[in-house]
Amino acid sequence: MRPFALTRADSASAAVQAQVAAAQSAATAPSVLWPSQYLAGGTTLIDLMKLDVMQPAAVTNINPLEQSLGAIDAGVDGLKLGALVRMSAAADHPDIKTNYPVIAQSLQLAASQQIRNMASLGGNVLQRTRCNYFRDTSYVNCNKRNPGSGCAAMDGINRMHAVLGTSDQCIATYPGDFAQALMALDAQVEITGTAGTRRIPFAQLHRAPGNSPHVDTTLGRGDLITAFTIPATPFAKRSLYLKVRDRASYEFALSSAAVALDIDNGMVRDVRIALGGVAALPWRAREAEEQLKGKQINDATLAAAAAAAFAKARPREHNLFKIELGKRTLERALRQAAAMEI
Ligand SMILES: Cc1cc2nc3c(=O)[nH]c(=O)nc-3n(C[C@H](O)[C@H](O)[C@H](O)COP(=O)(O)OP(=O)(O)OC[C@H]3O[C@@H](n4cnc5c(N)ncnc54)[C@H](O)[C@@H]3O)c2cc1C
Ligand code: SF4
Repeated sequence: MRPFALTRADSASAAVQAQVAAAQSAATAPSVLWPSQYLAGGTTLIDLMKLDVMQPAAVTNINPLEQSLGAIDAGVDGLKLGALVRMSAAADHPDIKTNYPVIAQSLQLAASQQIRNMASLGGNVLQRTRCNYFRDTSYVNCNKRNPGSGCAAMDGINRMHAVLGTSDQCIATYPGDFAQALMALDAQVEITGTAGTRRIPFAQLHRAPGNSPHVDTTLGRGDLITAFTIPATPFAKRSLYLKVRDRASYEFALSSAAVALDIDNGMVRDVRIALGGVAALPWRAREAEEQLKGKQINDATLAAAAAAAFAKARPREHNLFKIELGKRTLERALRQAAAMEI
């Protein structure tokens, strides 16, 4: 691991200032893509620093802010999760398990208990892709790590890669689970930056790779995620997360679906669908939602929704199976959600 300067944040605004100052002083070394980073649980960041994929000159430890950023508030208007809430705390929270099951399940099915105890929700949504060519610096051709160098995965081993939201520059999969749950419940993300605090729809946090796959999100320099807010909606309680993977635990998704349903006598009043494991970013399947609204849940409408969700999929040599798997995952998730007793 390369040497870096470690500072401790004593307020959100001080953390932002420290990151901006660090990035400015690193401007003389433009070859370093991500010159300053926050440290939360460290379960992504420290891995990537050890692998020499990320080489920040400055790291700001935000764990001293746990008192202000580590709370779970569940009320009648909705749920607020601080960015430093640990994954296990949210996964095990009784209110979340009952009233926002998709949130608890997406976290419970992620990583291992030890990692969930350490890792924060803010860090979780910002985890980087698990593309092996990104994580192994002996491969030069990775547009995400080394812009303009090409993409080794395109004609390499791409079984785990994305079929939705990709570009000619990058086909890496967004690997997390929690993000899909947030998207399915219309969450917002609260951010403190140089201009103060703002809120944006969670669906606007991540960006598609396009021509600049090294930029994963819409966050600006120094932006600190402080919380996630999830409104109380008619569909939050009838929600679930289904994750399909190569082994039953401690594995990233091959395909996953976060679904939330508002139904009346089997007829869909409203629905949210977000897909994981198959896309370059947390993926809202709006076309599938439109197929279901106002209809009964049955084999035909589920098949139509699944077909719509994957109509624009672009497979590569080894990941064609993800289209059929993704459709079946979505259909099963919707069937299970419709059958939930609430
Ligand atoms: C073996 C293994 C298996 C895993 N399996 C899964 C899985 O199945 N599903 C899944 O979803 N995840 C999985 N993960 C990923 C894991 O959940 C993430 O590493 C973890 O959630 C990251 O949180 P952290 O607090 O450790 O982040 P850190 O490593 O501390 O930070 C990650 C990134 O986020 C930035 N950051 C952190 N907090 C903030 C903030 N508040 N504002 C702005 N930027 C911030 C940091 O600068 C850094 O770039 C796995 C990880 C490992 C190592
Ligand atoms: S898929 Fe993306 S992350 Fe993987 S090698 Fe290609 S450019 Fe890099």
